[in-house]
Amino acid sequence: RVEAFDRKLASVIEERAEMALTMRQGLADRQFSLRLQPIIDVASSEPIGAEVLLRWNRPGIGEVGPADFIPVAERTGVIVDLETWVLEQAVGILRDWRLDPVTARMRLAVNISGRHIVEGNLAPLLDELCQRAQVDPALLDLEITETHLMSDVYRSIVVVDELRSQGVNVSIDDFGTGYSSMSYLHRLTVDALKIDQVFVAGMVDDRLDRTIVELLLRLGDSLGLQVVAEGVDSERKLALLKELGCPWAQGYHIAKPMSVEDATRWLKQQQALAASMA
Ligand code: C2E
Ligand code: MG
Ligand code: MG
Repeated sequence: RVEAFDRKLASVIEERAEMALTMRQGLADRQFSLRLQPIIDVASSEPIGAEVLLRWNRPGIGEVGPADFIPVAERTGVIVDLETWVLEQAVGILRDWRLDPVTARMRLAVNISGRHIVEGNLAPLLDELCQRAQVDPALLDLEITETHLMSDVYRSIVVVDELRSQGVNVSIDDFGTGYSSMSYLHRLTVDALKIDQVFVAGMVDDRLDRTIVELLLRLGDSLGLQVVAEGVDSERKLALLKELGCPWAQGYHIAKPMSVEDATRWLKQQQALAASMA
């Protein structure tokens, strides 16, 4: 028997294992934090809640974005621990928000990796967290990307159904980019679609992108799904989305991701602003 040893591959695997260890230690050392990016109702400008975005403050390196560590966390399985922590924090924020009538019905969207859906214990975990904190599970939206749903479609369907029967909402993130979106809608019942930034980015100048956005809005409408447009970074895009009847939106033009305290303040101010305009 002959086996090939690839020095490069070995060092990649070693690097990953090391990073996984560093992430686990970082989690124990409280190096991870959350940013919240507000989501608004386009027609009324009322705040709906926020999306939870993970950050890693690496000693000696500084703040690292999810693109730099989520893929490794997924490959090494650390993602389950990371997202368990994110979910604990998110439920804690919802519990705090309950204390103020202005924020009591605001929602949080949490990104969940496909590996977590397949290998984790999401339904019992959320059931326990929500019960203990007395938080309504309907205030949680779990965002899953299509590419992730693909890894084990059958198991994903079982878990998604279980979560939804508990009252948790499930949405498909970056909808339209995985090229299989339509076939998913057949097999998987979800609550919402998030229109990918790519289409929103091109919407103002590109006819095809605009048509895709229009189609996704109609699709969501006829299937009774909530639709969120993300990457709304200009007034023109927000105005166009309003014209097209897009229900909810998120993006730099509305608000950037911020600390939990700042986001909470922003949501309250936005609520007051929307009320004064109504
Ligand atoms: P996503 O879920 O599609 O999140 C939206 C990303 O777009 C965020 O980047 C956000 O900061 C960015 N963004 C928001 N508004 C705008 C805008 O107007 N223009 C542009 N160009 N970008 C905008 P971020 O925070 O770097 O997150 C990137 C991705 O990392 C997320 O994409 C999500 O897939 C993943 N991610 C973040 N946190 C978690 C997590 O806890 N678990 C998992 N599995 N994935 C996560
Ligand atoms: Mg997301
Ligand atoms: Mg997205």
